[in-house]
Amino acid sequence: MTDASALMPVFARSPLAFERGEGCWLITAEGDRYLDFAAGIAVNSLGHGHPHLVEALKTQAEKLWHVSNLYSIPEGERLAKRLADNSFADVVFFANSGAEALEASIKLARKHFHHKGEGERYRLITFEGAFHGRTLATIAAGGQQKYLEGFGPKVEGFDQVPFGDLAAVEAAIGPETAGVLVEPLQGEGGVRVLPPSTLRALREICDREGLLLVVDEVQCGVGRTGKLFAYEHAGILPDVMAIAKGIGGGFPMGACLATREAADGMTAGVHGSTFGGNPLAMAVGNAVLDVVLAPGFLEHVQQMGLLFRQRLAEVIDAHPSSVAEVRGEGLLLGLRCVAPNGDVVVALRGEGLLTVGAGENVVRLLPPLIATEVEIGEAVARIDRGLSALEGRMIGARGAAE
Ligand SMILES: *Cc1c(COP(=O)(O)O)cnc(C)c1O
Repeated sequence: MTDASALMPVFARSPLAFERGEGCWLITAEGDRYLDFAAGIAVNSLGHGHPHLVEALKTQAEKLWHVSNLYSIPEGERLAKRLADNSFADVVFFANSGAEALEASIKLARKHFHHKGEGERYRLITFEGAFHGRTLATIAAGGQQKYLEGFGPKVEGFDQVPFGDLAAVEAAIGPETAGVLVEPLQGEGGVRVLPPSTLRALREICDREGLLLVVDEVQCGVGRTGKLFAYEHAGILPDVMAIAKGIGGGFPMGACLATREAADGMTAGVHGSTFGGNPLAMAVGNAVLDVVLAPGFLEHVQQMGLLFRQRLAEVIDAHPSSVAEVRGEGLLLGLRCVAPNGDVVVALRGEGLLTVGAGENVVRLLPPLIATEVEIGEAVARIDRGLSALEGRMIGARGAAE
């Protein structure tokens, strides 16, 4: 035994630890308050300690935790129905994470064609910069070398094309293609919005070629972009969708949603999960939907997103040597940095503002969807101070070097 942490060191963690949370704030044991614009990486959609979620979890915890999928789970029936009623989908499979929701989506797409007697169609076209999770199949789907390295042969069946490149999609389609897997807005990839016209074109290509359009809304779904689901911005309907992060508000859960036709191969026994759809998760998922579907909630997200964007544009004008561009949609925003994004995250943390990095040298700003003008104003003030401090240090370092 040693004094080193007993956790596998797969995360480069900050030593910062929190004891409790209140709305948009995280509080350390010493009482230091941090404005949480990372929100557990787009998970704490309703912030911390939301009374409706706490109540739902407590009430369910006193009744029943887990029964397995051998039995009917009424809260799960209800959540599936509500998700279907508010989306393109007819049927839902519950899992415990984003990667599992994607695994189910990938398996569903393959099984759909197998069920039709076209088992040779199993490949999915994916996009550069994608992130679909860390299981063996989802790292293959994401295609990022840094996540594939050292884990043996890559799972077969994914053909990656440049981000948003429709000609490359067309060229990649062959007799083995089952569908296209795409994030309407890439989160990890650098808050890159797929133009709505591109998503519409992908829908047309899939219709013409008889392919399934599978969207990964693990990060951008459940209100984050100001619509319940990001595909709505394009005015199209996918065939399959993976969601996770925001739907649990911090309780681990994921889901694969599909049309009845796309899911026609998913018959009894072909897929499963011990924990997926358990009563605790279902109670919390329903409670999240109660809030997100309440009249005016998504409009609030849209308004706060616009306000935040405007204020961030001012930040860019004031700090051109540190930040260059605002991107994203709703409250899934990114600041493309000139300075290294890791330095910016640390500088903002120094001002008590939590954010998270992403690809393309971006810092992600993912406030809880309940954030108001007050918290957004506070975040902008802290970004301004953090960038000034960073710029001061950079000038200092340059001066010292001379
Ligand atoms: C986070 C994420 C995943 C993986 O979710 P996990 O819960 O970490 O397995 C998949 N796709 C997207 C778009 C994500 O942001």
